[in-house]
Amino acid sequence: MNTRLNLPKSNVHSHTTFSDGRNSAEDMVRAALALGFHTLGFSEHGCADYDDSAMPLDREPEYRAEVLRLRAKYAGQIDLLLGCEHDWLSPPSPYAYDYAIESVHYVRKDGALWCVDWSREKLVAAAREFYDGDFYRLCRDYFRTVCESIEGTSADILGHIELVMKFNEARDLFDDADPRYLGPALECAELAARSGRLVEINTGAIAKGYRTQPTPGPAMLKRVRECGGRVILSSDCHDRDHLDCGFAGAAELARACGFKTAWEYRRAEPVEYPL
Ligand SMILES: [Zn+2]
Ligand SMILES: [Zn+2]
Repeated sequence: MNTRLNLPKSNVHSHTTFSDGRNSAEDMVRAALALGFHTLGFSEHGCADYDDSAMPLDREPEYRAEVLRLRAKYAGQIDLLLGCEHDWLSPPSPYAYDYAIESVHYVRKDGALWCVDWSREKLVAAAREFYDGDFYRLCRDYFRTVCESIEGTSADILGHIELVMKFNEARDLFDDADPRYLGPALECAELAARSGRLVEINTGAIAKGYRTQPTPGPAMLKRVRECGGRVILSSDCHDRDHLDCGFAGAAELARACGFKTAWEYRRAEPVEYPL
C-alpha cells in the first residue's frame, strides 16, 4: 500500500488567453496562490504559422511584459516563470526564456502537415488520408518526429511524448500493446530518458475530458525509468480551475512505474523531490 503521495505545489506548463487558454495570466496567478503554489510557469505556444491557436509573433513582447509585470507584482508570494512551449516544426523564438518545453503537435507527411491533438475526427481523417487507414504507420511517423525533436532540441522539458494516445484511451483506434506501436514508443521513451531532459507526465487531456489517465502510459514510463530518465508532473493547464488537475493520479502512476522521485521548478531551476 502506498504511503501518502507528495504532490508538487507548482506547474510550469500553462496557457492563457495569449494563446489557447481560457483565462488571463493574472487569473492564473490568483488560482495558483489559492492552491498554495510556490511556482507557476507560463508556457505559451510559440508562433507557428500553421497553427491558429499559437501565439502570433507580434504578441510575444506583450506576453513577456505581462509575465514580468506579474512577477514583480507578486514577488514574495509566488515565483512566476516566463517560459514557452515550442512546436518542433516551427522556427525558434528570437527571445530568451526561463525554460522551454519542446512538443510535437504536428507531423509532416507527403509535403503536408497533420495535427496530432486537434480532435479525434481529425486524427482519424489523417490516418485515412496519409496512411490508408493504418494507425500503426501513423504512430510510427509520430514517434519518429518525437525522436527527431528530442535529438534536435535544446529545451529543458519534453512535452507530452505520447500525445498520439490522447483520443485513444479506449484503445478502439489502435492497440498500444501491439508491437507495431510499442516498438517505436519504447525507442522514443529510451531516447527521451537518455537525453537527460525532463520528461512530462502530462494530465492535460484529463482536464479536457478526453482521458482519465495521464500520458505517457505505464509502458513508456517504465522504460523511461529503466533508462535513468527524470519526470516532471504537468497539467498543461488551459483553465485556472485545472492547475493541479490529475496530479495525484500522475504521482501514483510514477510510483507504480518505479520512480522514487520527480522534479519540479523552484526559482527557474528544476529540483528533485521524493514522490
Ligand atoms: Zn502541447
Ligand atoms: Zn501545452
